[in-house]
Amino acid sequence: MIIPIKCPLVQDVPIQNLIKMANFKNEFSWSKSRDGVFNECKRKYFFNHYGFWNGWDSNEEDRTKRIYYLKQLNTKEIWLGSIIHEAIKYVLNQLKFGQGISLSYALAILRKKFEKEFIQSSIKKYTGFNRKSHKFFEEEYGIEISEEDKKELLKKAELCLTNFYNSDTFMTIRKTPIEDWIFLENFLNFNFEGDKIFLGIDFAMRDGDKIILYDWKTGKERTADFDLQLTCYALYISERLGVSPKNIIAKIFNLSINKEDTFEINEEKLEEMKRYIQEKIKSMKSFLVDMEENIAKEEKEFPKEEGFYCSRCNFKKICSGEW
Ligand code: SF4
Repeated sequence: MIIPIKCPLVQDVPIQNLIKMANFKNEFSWSKSRDGVFNECKRKYFFNHYGFWNGWDSNEEDRTKRIYYLKQLNTKEIWLGSIIHEAIKYVLNQLKFGQGISLSYALAILRKKFEKEFIQSSIKKYTGFNRKSHKFFEEEYGIEISEEDKKELLKKAELCLTNFYNSDTFMTIRKTPIEDWIFLENFLNFNFEGDKIFLGIDFAMRDGDKIILYDWKTGKERTADFDLQLTCYALYISERLGVSPKNIIAKIFNLSINKEDTFEINEEKLEEMKRYIQEKIKSMKSFLVDMEENIAKEEKEFPKEEGFYCSRCNFKKICSGEW
């Protein structure tokens, strides 16, 4: 079956044709999330970055299509983080165009999306091909999300958005002239010694000769991960906007506990970050047979690192041979 996808410019063009038109290639890149998967389990890294490739093509073998399907699942926590991020982005975008919206209106939008996507996940329309539909990891793996869990999730989403509205951070953003806001796209990238680095910065703004970077958190990530992420953002700002590291301030706002932390950025940290990325890229590339074309070794060359991460791994079914 050929799956049509909707796009305002090219309506109902089968994804296969679009890919040919765009000369789509599985290019090598580095990102914090890719790095995280690589650190967790090499087999998972293979599925997530190589095994899925072409899984959207109806002529592809079933196993590849299944890997592609599993790749798109989200745990309830990851999904919750993404809808909170989307809500804040919407609020800031409205504000940018002079249409500040009230907390109650923002909460109503959030609740609507929350309910809609919960229903979507349960009506089993998810195929992995339509970006508009979504499915919970829990749903796929028969893990119950009880009514109580659902209430807790909604409560957390509302708390995060309310904390954002009532925060000094939002007050500071509102007081800052729009000309000093720096809106960044979701998928930023820059060239690092010939390879692409991808990242997504939630919000940034100018304050005199300084740039303040913000990252909204909704979960329980470790502080060590924040450092890696924020230094990567600072590297982008420093490389792309030519700003000295001493003029970059990086902030994490943990919305669920209403806590803002500031991270120091300096030349030393940026150099350390560069060394880290160089090493990780080298390790990742050691799993390739063709570095130019980003062609990976065979699946069996990527060891399964069974343990803690398996319980929340999208690819469990395929990895265990159950599917
Ligand atoms: S189930 Fe475990 S071993 Fe298999 S890919 Fe996932 S994390 Fe790796």
